Amino acid sequence: MNLPIPYGRQHITDDDVASVNDVLRSPYLTQGPKIGELENAFAQYIGSTYAIAVANGTAALHLCCLALGVGPGTRVITTPITFSASANCVRYCGGEVYFADIDPETALLDPKAVRELLESHPKGFFSGLIPVDFAGYPVDLIAFRELADEFGLWLLEDACHAPGASFTTNDQTYRSGDSSLADLAIFSFHPVKHIAAGEGGMITTNDEELYKHLLRLRTHGITNKSDEFTEPYSGEPERGGWYMELQELGYNYRLTDIQAALALSQLNRADSMLSRRQELAARYDAAFSEAASAGLPIQIIVPPANVSHAYHLYVIQTPERKALYDFLRAKNILVQVHYIPVHLMPYYRQFGWEPGDFPNAEQYYAGCLSLPLFPALTNEEQDYVIDTVKTFLIGLP
Ligand SMILES: *Cc1c(COP(=O)(O)O)cnc(C)c1O
Repeated sequence: MNLPIPYGRQHITDDDVASVNDVLRSPYLTQGPKIGELENAFAQYIGSTYAIAVANGTAALHLCCLALGVGPGTRVITTPITFSASANCVRYCGGEVYFADIDPETALLDPKAVRELLESHPKGFFSGLIPVDFAGYPVDLIAFRELADEFGLWLLEDACHAPGASFTTNDQTYRSGDSSLADLAIFSFHPVKHIAAGEGGMITTNDEELYKHLLRLRTHGITNKSDEFTEPYSGEPERGGWYMELQELGYNYRLTDIQAALALSQLNRADSMLSRRQELAARYDAAFSEAASAGLPIQIIVPPANVSHAYHLYVIQTPERKALYDFLRAKNILVQVHYIPVHLMPYYRQFGWEPGDFPNAEQYYAGCLSLPLFPALTNEEQDYVIDTVKTFLIGLP
């Protein structure tokens, strides 16, 4: 058994190392052929028409907000239970972040709370929604699409936790990030996520205009495609093969071929890594359902049968969270807390958000604890985690 056990960790094989080595000896280190290969393979895996590889998940969010027209005065709604990047992207563009509460049954942004917020303002007040597939549980995009259509909003799915997740309604299966319901979706290749690239991110969409715009924004706002060029001005020297245009203010948010090679190699075994996550989650579910039935103070979220959860995180809830955190850390089990509600961060408090604004999110935060979950976690290591959690709970006064 390898101690300490982190809450998440990348899984690197000899094939991964060989793929990266090949790129190092190739002519391309930054964007080269691996980018297109990764984009095609990822779009196919996720089920979207287009995929755009970018420097990281946060850059993906930023570019999406730019492409969707977020600017000063644009108001966007997201969940307080997420990594702060889901909200920060709106601020990068000068927009205003609003939050709505979570559904305690799923810990996901609650469409009912969003509707209440939308209905309490004049139509046109809000511009967009950023729901998050928190922990790997796919959000109800059908409900959010309905709200988006009714209130004239765009819909951006933060699917960083959920590559491979899906839900089925009326015999139709929706995969997280397939963009059949959302306008855009984004992913991260940070090492604790499903697919590691060191740093890396991806945007998926089925919208050709957004796709073309995002490609340009990823590289400074420059295009070298002749069908996108403006008309020559009078007296302009003849344009040659060098010609390109800076058409708007973009960024350098490119992924390197080195990172793309690693992500591509990992993507080849995404299904088996996902199955292992789901298998480990089922073992946790069995152990903790039993503990809860026996009256121990522990709660878990088990999705209904029509939901295939991707289990980026395995979260338990207990009123004894602080003591359990300390106990497990002392036993070399490096549990984490996801998340401190974004609206309570000092940066967001300055905009007037206060404790008590989102009681479900705050209650969730008070009790949540993420246990180790990653494909290379062994059953033996997991049993040690389960036994240690149970020992603590049974020992409570
Ligand atoms: C990881 C993560 C991001 C940001 O991804 P980076 O690649 O680390 O920039 C955004 N949203 C959520 C929900 C995340 O978990």
